[in-house]
Amino acid sequence: MGSMHLGLEEESDGFSKLATFYAERARGGAGLIVTGGISPNRRGVLGPNGARMQSMRHAKKHQVITEAVHREGGRILMQILHGGRYSYHPFNVAPSALKAPINRFKPRALSERGVERTIKDFVHSAHLAKAAGYDGVEIMGSEGYLINQFLVSSTNHRKDRYGGSFENRMRFPVEIIRRIRERMGDDFVIMYRLSMLDLVADGSSWDEVIQMARAIEEAGASIINTGIGWHEARVPTIATLVPRGGFTFVTKRLMGSVSIPLVTTNRLNMPGVCEEALEQGCADLISMARPFLADPDLVIKAKTNRTDEINTCIGCNQACLDQIFKQQIASCLVNPRAAHEGEWPLDARTSDPRRIAVVGAGPAGLSAATELARTGHAVTLYEKSHQIGGQFNMAKRIPGKEEFNETLRYFNRQLELLGVAVQLNTDVQAGELLAYDEVVLATGVKPRAWNVSGAGEDARVVSYIDVLKGDVELGDTIAIIGAGGIGFDVAEFLVHDGRHDFYETWGIDKELRERGGLNAPADVTSERTVHMLQRSAKKMGGGLGKTTGWIHRMGLKKAGVQMHTGVAYQSLSPDGLRYTQDGEEHTLAADHFVVCAGQEPFHPLAEDLKVMGKPAHLIGGALNASKLDAQRAIKEGLELAYALR
Ligand code: FAD
Ligand code: NAP
Ligand code: SF4
Repeated sequence: MGSMHLGLEEESDGFSKLATFYAERARGGAGLIVTGGISPNRRGVLGPNGARMQSMRHAKKHQVITEAVHREGGRILMQILHGGRYSYHPFNVAPSALKAPINRFKPRALSERGVERTIKDFVHSAHLAKAAGYDGVEIMGSEGYLINQFLVSSTNHRKDRYGGSFENRMRFPVEIIRRIRERMGDDFVIMYRLSMLDLVADGSSWDEVIQMARAIEEAGASIINTGIGWHEARVPTIATLVPRGGFTFVTKRLMGSVSIPLVTTNRLNMPGVCEEALEQGCADLISMARPFLADPDLVIKAKTNRTDEINTCIGCNQACLDQIFKQQIASCLVNPRAAHEGEWPLDARTSDPRRIAVVGAGPAGLSAATELARTGHAVTLYEKSHQIGGQFNMAKRIPGKEEFNETLRYFNRQLELLGVAVQLNTDVQAGELLAYDEVVLATGVKPRAWNVSGAGEDARVVSYIDVLKGDVELGDTIAIIGAGGIGFDVAEFLVHDGRHDFYETWGIDKELRERGGLNAPADVTSERTVHMLQRSAKKMGGGLGKTTGWIHRMGLKKAGVQMHTGVAYQSLSPDGLRYTQDGEEHTLAADHFVVCAGQEPFHPLAEDLKVMGKPAHLIGGALNASKLDAQRAIKEGLELAYALR
C-alpha cells in the first residue's frame, strides 16, 4: 500500500486512528504498508504543524501504529519526506534559493553544512523509525520534493560537491541511503522512491534515471519504487482521465537495469490491471494507495475470487487529496468510512430491525439502502428508471469518467449480497410507502430552468440531460449556460473527439527520449465551436476540485473552448443570445444552448407523506441541492443508516 498523508498525523488523537486505519488494511491483505510522509526535521515539514520524526518522544507516538499492523501480520515502512522548496512555510530550505511555482514561500539555500546536517537528520529519523517498530523506511526521492530538487539542474544551481555534474547532484540521496544502511545494518528495509519521469522541463534524462537507480542499489537500497511527475508538472498523473496502469511502461523500462525489486504505481486500481502489469514484466511489485482508501479488503477479495465485490477507487481525488489540500482529514468518496473507521464500525448491528423503504437509487439511496441492510434492517429500494445509479449514469458517459461504472457495479453486487429488494421501473407513490416502518427519500434533483426571456419556447435550448442521454443532434456551435461541474463535463463531452490519446494530448514522451519525459502536445483544437458562460466574474471552474480543476480548465483551453465570465443574460432571439459583459452588449449565435444552470431538490413525495402522518428522512439532492456532490450524497446515506440503528 503506497504512501498517503491522511491529515491524522497532525491530529492530537490521530495516532490511534491511524493505527485502526493501517491495521484494517493489513488485515485486508496489504503485503507492505508505507505511511504518509514524515519529515526528518523542522524545515522539511510540508505545513507549519507537519509531522516529524526527530526524537524518541516522536518515535513513542508511532508505536501504536506498528504494533497494530504487526498484530495483523502486516509489515510497515515509515516514509521520510523532506518538502524542500515545496514546504509551505517561511523557513523552508532547498538546494538553491529558487521559489517553486506552486508555493508562495521562497526557500533559503542550504549551506554545505546544512546539507550535511540534513543527511544526518534522515539517518537519525530512520533510526528512530526502527525504534518505533517500523520494518524499514521509504525515502521519498520523487514528486519534486527536496531530493528531486537536488537531482535536477534547474532547481540545483550549487557550486559545491552537491551541485554541477550529475554525480554531484545525486550525492545527496546516495549519501542518505548509504549512511542509513551503514547505521541500520542489513535487517532493515530501505525503499527508495525514484522519480523515473519528472514531467517538468529540464527534468532528469532517462540515462540519469538508470544511473541513479544503480547508485541507489549500490548504496544499499532494498527496493526501488516508482515516482511519476513533480507536483508542479502540468500533466495529470493520477486523476481519473489517466488510463489505468498508464505509467507502468516507465518502470518496465528500468527492469533489468538493477537487481533489486522494482515497484510500479499510478492508477492501478483493480486486480486485473495489476496482474497484467506483472505478466507483461513491468515490475516485480505493485503499489496501490488510493484503492486502499476505497476498499481496505481489496487484496483479500482479489485472492478469494470476489473481484466483483471490490469498491473501486474512481480516481476522483475529491475526498482524499482535495480534502488534504483544504487542511481536512482525507477520506474517500466511495467509502466515507476511510480514516473514520471508529465512527461507523463495520460490525454495528441494529437492536430494532425494521422494514425500511428507500426511494431513489442514486448514490445517496444506494449508500443508505446497503448500509441499512448491513446493520440488519429489511430494505426495499425503489427506483423509477430501469437502472440504479441516478446521475452517475450521466457522469459515466463523460470521457475520462468511465470509472464511475465501477461504483455502480459495486453497489449492484452489494444490493444482491445484502438481500435488498430492488424495485426498478417503479415511480412509487406515497400511499404505497405507508406500510413501512421508515421511509427514506433519496429522489435527487431537478435541473434549474434558465429563465432568460425567450428561452422557454426556443427549440435550441436543451438541458444537459438531453445532451448526455444523446436525445438531441447537436450543431457545430454550442453555448453552455452555466460553468459548474456539470457545465465543465458537458464541455468535455462536446469537444472530446478521440483523435489523440492521453499521452499525445498531454505531451508525454513514451519513448523517454526527452528530458523529463515531455514532448510537444498534440493540437487538440475541437472542430466544434463551444462557448461557456457564467454570470459570476470569478475564475471559471474555481469551484472544481483543488487537485483536478486545473486539468479540466487546461483540457478545455487546449480544445479551444471560449470562456465568458461576468456575463448578464438579456434575452434569446432568432439572432442569438443577447448579453452584456463589462458594460458592452454582445450577441452570441449558436445552434444550441445547453442549460447547465445548477439544480434544485426533487422530493415530490415528502409533503404527501407528511400529510399522511409518515414524515420521511431526506438525504442527498432531495435534502439539499446546493453544493451537492456524490461525496456528500454517499456520506449522508451512511450517516442516516447509523442514526437509524
Ligand atoms: P440522484 O443521483 O439524482 O438520484 C436520484 C434517483 O432517484 C434517480 O435515480 C431517480 O430516478 C430516482 N427517483 C426520483 N424520484 C423517484 C420516485 N418517485 N420513485 C423512485 N425513484 C425516484 N458528483 C461528484 O461528486 N463528482 C463528479 O465527478 C460528478 N460528476 C457528475 C457528472 C455529471 C454529468 C452529473 C450529471 C453529475 C455529476 N456529479 C458528480 C453529481 C452527482 O452525480 C450527484 O451529486 C449525485 O448523483 C446525487 O445523488 P442523489 O442520490 O442525491 O441523487
Ligand atoms: P453548480 O456547480 O452549482 O453550477 C451551476 C452553474 O450554473 C454555475 O456556473 C452558475 O454560475 C450557473 N447558474 C446558477 N443559477 C443560474 C441561473 N438561474 N441561470 C443561469 N445560470 C445559473 O451545479 P452543477 O454544474 O449543476 O453541478 C451539480 C453538482 O454536481 C455540483 O455541486 C458539483 O459539485 C457536482 N459535480 C461535480 C463534478 C466534479 O468533477 N467534481 C462534476 C460534475 C458535477 P453563475 O450563477 O455565475 O451564472
Ligand atoms: Fe479514489 Fe476518489 Fe476515493 Fe480518492 S476519493 S480514494 S480518488 S475514489
